[in-house]
Formats: sequence, C-alpha cells, structure tokens
Amino acid sequence: MALFKKLDDLEEKNVPASKAQEEEHVRTLILGSGPAGYTAAIYAARANLSPVVYEGIEPGGQLTTTTEVENFPGYPEGVTGPEMMEDLKKQAQRFGTDVRFGIATSADLSQRPFKVTIDEKKVILADVLIIATGATAKYLGLEAEKKYAGSGVSACATCDGFFYKGKDVAVVGGGDSACEEALYLSNLCRKVYMIVRKDHLRASKIMQERVFKTHNIEVLFEHNAIDLFGDGVVEGAVLVKKKGTPEEEEVRIKIDGFFLAIGHTPNSGIFKDYLELDETGYIKTQPGTTRTNIHGVFACGDVQDRIYRQAVTAAGSGCMAAIDAERFLGEQES
Ligand code: NDP
Repeated sequence: MALFKKLDDLEEKNVPASKAQEEEHVRTLILGSGPAGYTAAIYAARANLSPVVYEGIEPGGQLTTTTEVENFPGYPEGVTGPEMMEDLKKQAQRFGTDVRFGIATSADLSQRPFKVTIDEKKVILADVLIIATGATAKYLGLEAEKKYAGSGVSACATCDGFFYKGKDVAVVGGGDSACEEALYLSNLCRKVYMIVRKDHLRASKIMQERVFKTHNIEVLFEHNAIDLFGDGVVEGAVLVKKKGTPEEEEVRIKIDGFFLAIGHTPNSGIFKDYLELDETGYIKTQPGTTRTNIHGVFACGDVQDRIYRQAVTAAGSGCMAAIDAERFLGEQES
C-alpha cells in the first residue's frame, strides 16, 4: 500500500497540472553526495528503497577537495579523494541509485511526504528523507576575504593551489586540514606560512611532524590575520602577533594566496525550523541512531557529527541512516 500522497493523488485533487509537473514523489530522498550520502544510497538501493540522491553544492563532498586519503580502510596504498568519491558514486549507481545534480534550497518537514525544493524550482515529495549535506568551510569574517574572493583568497588548496605555483602563500589554521593544505601547497609554492592563533598546533602528531620537517613551511604561532592588501589581487596580509599582550605587534607578510583551513559549519540551515540543532548548527540525532526529532527524517555524516568528522565515520553513519530508513518504512507499511 502506498504510504503517502502520490502525484496521481494530486491530479485527482485538481492540483493545477503545471504545479503537479513540478512535483515528483520519491520513496527515499538523500541530500548530499559525500561518503555518508553515497553509503546511504548503496544500502538503500540494495534494500529496494529506490533512492534519489541530489549531489548538492559540492558533488562528491569535501573529499573531492582533499589530496591523498590514507586512513580509509581498504586502501593500503592510499587513494585520492576524488577517485574514492567516484568509486562510491559508481557503487551507488550500480544498484540503481538515481544520482542528480541539484541543490536543496528549502524544505517543509511539517508533514509526510516531506517536501524538499531543489534549485528553487522542483519539489520532491519524499516518504523518507536522509540528510547528508555535510559541512562548509569557515572564513574569518574579514571584509578583505570578500574583496579578494577568487583573487587570492581560497578555502581549498587542492582546487586552487595550482594557480600559486612558485609563489608565496599563507594557510590559516592549526588543525589537520591546515597542515594538509600547507603540505600540499609546499610542493607547489616557494614558501608557505601557517598562521596559527595559539602557541601550538591542534593537528595530529604525524601531521605536525610532516609540517615541521618541510623546509619551506614556516609556522607563525600566536599570529592572527586581520587584513589583506593588494591592488586588485592579494599581495600581502596584515597579522597581529601576540594579540592582547604587552608584546603585541603588527606583522606584514608578502603573499599571493591566502588559504583558510579553520574548520567547517554544518549545512543544516534549511532544516532549522523543523529539526533540533545544537548550538553550532549540527543536527541532533538520537544516540546510537541517525533518527532526528522528526519521524522519517534521518541525518548522517558531518552535518550531525561535530566530533569525529572522518570519511569512514560518515560512511558508517550513512549505512545506519539507510537501515534506520528501511525499518521506518517497514513499520509504516506493515
Ligand atoms: P579543526 O577544528 O580540527 O581545526 C581548526 C583550526 O583552525 C584550529 O587550529 C583552530 O585554532 C583554527 N581556528 C578556528 N577558528 C579560527 C579563527 N577564527 N582564527 C584563527 N584560527 C582559527 O578543523 P580541521 O578542519 O582541521 O579538522 C576537522 C576534523 O577533520 C578533525 O577531526 C581532523 O582531525 C579531521 N581531519 C583529518 C585529516 C586527516 O586525517 N588526514 C585531514 C583533515 C581533517 P584553535 O586550535 O586555536 O582552536
């Protein structure tokens, strides 16, 4: 028995044809195409849940902007992020997943079927919704970041590093992402500064060692970037050393590229009127499950994980979401 309103029902109820044409009813809608979204799709497709995946703003997710993935089990020699995501996509498609371009621009989760609008045009009615929209890079919030966007400011070294071949650049942040970006850039650029606000790196020991061993990376501890300068393009950054102490001083460095690697914000904004979020916007799930506060809506991957944020944990939670969705549909249909 069909659970929810189908397109046919809409026509029966005299919904104008033009509106009906813009709507499509699917059984399982998955938003996001990182390891969480594609793993959910693999499991959902194999369980006959007919998943439709909308890839979102960054097809393949954050791993497409990383270089070598060395810690995903099953790749003894490592694998590049884009290759791994292409494999996951193919695996999801092999079992019948319908993968589409498109960004979810609004959602109405007040009743089932859930309504998700894609690209502000098409409305998808979904019996179950799996949210795997991930997280987006943070910026410092400087006016100069906007001014020089695409002209020296970037949040993705793998995407843009090539443009700075032989030049001097800076990476802001002291975590694993910042180290990874700095190491990547060190192979292309003449000099890489790391701008770190504390007196130590937050990154794992192995990444720290690699950074310290790299001759053309200079770590500027206890420095904060406050501005950028340059005629149309970035030519340098203004930093404050030991901010708020008696030794505080302004430092200017000459750089051509300014890369942000200071963490991420979960992509949960369009669900905020319906789903419980924590104080930083991560979707709350019931412990040990991917269930949100709305029956039939599940969340997996970085959009609900502020702690681990790894490809393998995202994939694991994607699997959980598909199993939770299958059980939910089973209960509704029995
Ligand atoms: P993290 O949250 O781990 O690190 C963010 C870094 O940015 C910290 O050094 C933080 O400083 C700094 N920072 C944050 N806000 C500001 C600001 N306003 N001004 C200046 N500096 C700022 O984020 P990552 O993206 O590095 O990593 C996220 C997760 O992904 C982690 O669990 C990490 O281990 C994992 N990861 C693993 C990789 C791997 O294993 N190959 C690669 C990349 C990420 P502070 O320390 O002072 O807070």
